[in-house]
Amino acid sequence: MEKIKMTTPLVEMDGDEMTRILWKMIKDELLLPYIDLKTEYYDLGLEYRNETNDQVTIDSAEATKKYGVAVKCATITPNAARMTEYQLKEMWKSPNGTIRAALDGTVFRTPIIVKGIEPCVKNWEKPITLARHAYGDVYKNTEIKVPGAGKAELVFTAKDGTEIRETIHQFRGAGILQGIHNTDESITSFAKACFNYALDTKQDLWFATKDTISKKYDHHFKDIFQDIYEKEYEEKFKEAGIEYFYTLIDDAVARVMKAKGGFIWACKNYDGDVMSDMVSSAFGSLAMMTSVLVSPSGVYEYEAAHGTVQRHYYKHLKGEETSTNSVATIFAWSGALRKRGELDGIEELVKFADKLEKATIQTIESGKMTKDLALITSLKDVTVLNSGNFIKAVKETLESL
Ligand code: NAP
Ligand code: MG
Repeated sequence: MEKIKMTTPLVEMDGDEMTRILWKMIKDELLLPYIDLKTEYYDLGLEYRNETNDQVTIDSAEATKKYGVAVKCATITPNAARMTEYQLKEMWKSPNGTIRAALDGTVFRTPIIVKGIEPCVKNWEKPITLARHAYGDVYKNTEIKVPGAGKAELVFTAKDGTEIRETIHQFRGAGILQGIHNTDESITSFAKACFNYALDTKQDLWFATKDTISKKYDHHFKDIFQDIYEKEYEEKFKEAGIEYFYTLIDDAVARVMKAKGGFIWACKNYDGDVMSDMVSSAFGSLAMMTSVLVSPSGVYEYEAAHGTVQRHYYKHLKGEETSTNSVATIFAWSGALRKRGELDGIEELVKFADKLEKATIQTIESGKMTKDLALITSLKDVTVLNSGNFIKAVKETLESL
């Protein structure tokens, strides 16, 4: 069989530990035999990031802007322990943070649904994609521990020196204070990324805040979304047969629990932090969660939602067998290849991506899976496979399709 040709390179960001091992297996077994894989390779493994003073991360983000589609392996975010383990020159920033900042992107997380791994919420038939605004609010706050009686004010000083001043509270005793902010630019980017992704995946978009209580702050988010929707997206949504739906955050939570799924739920930063953990754990497993960073200019970076699975890597280094789930990493590749195929008009590449996903799901549904899924599946007659043999089983299914 002739290999599928590509015209534009994918930006390939290699990573760390167990996921780096899976990365190579996936390429060798599931991609290279079928695709004349064209990638521009960036090694975001911690060693090379340290060697290049993290320049490689910046370069990979620039390449993503240039080509439009990237696929990323999980990477270590250094902490004190990693400083000694890898003898780092500096505690380099999280690559995901660096890339997100460079692309001004929003992260969309979607569970992969298979029969036999049922969500805890029994009416969830389709995936719920969570979009979290990744800038500002309580994550960039300023706090004061109020020692005793006094007046707290909110003051904005414009460039020309004029002031806007509001009393927050007249304290009669000790208490606490918090100042938070966001910017029109960031909220606009978030809104556009959400509208674009809804169109791209032909799913309804839900957005919720607490605008009844936060009449200026949260209401501003609602207004920006509504304004952009009416100006730029309303027509396109109608054509695509999808809906933009705004409601209060508590109403959204109640509706999500009763819904069938199949929509995108856009959340402010804090709501997204909390709700994404709820949605992902209710769907079963972090190893079955895909993640894509979408920039408002329409650049895509695909990855798995989980980390480098450090514990499994140390077992692997000791020569012990591992049963690490590669599904989300396989879907990162299929997502990126599909998008590359769509952008370049290579139908065969799109079809291959579909087939690879189908093969992965069918393999699990036939009872062949890694240990993490075997522990939670409702399927009987399960065969637990090691990391390599699971990928080989997917290859077998792929060849049978
Ligand atoms: P993790 O890699 O997500 O793994 C945490 C635990 O979840 C594992 O020990 C394992 O449980 C289970 N797990 C996660 N993915 C799995 C998979 N594919 N197959 C089977 N089990 C899986 O998180 P971590 O160990 O806390 O973090 C390790 C490193 O990843 C850190 O250095 C962190 O900075 C980095 N990280 C990177 C990203 C990213 O690049 N996007 C995201 C998060 C974390 P058991 O041990 O019980 O089997
Ligand atoms: Mg969290």
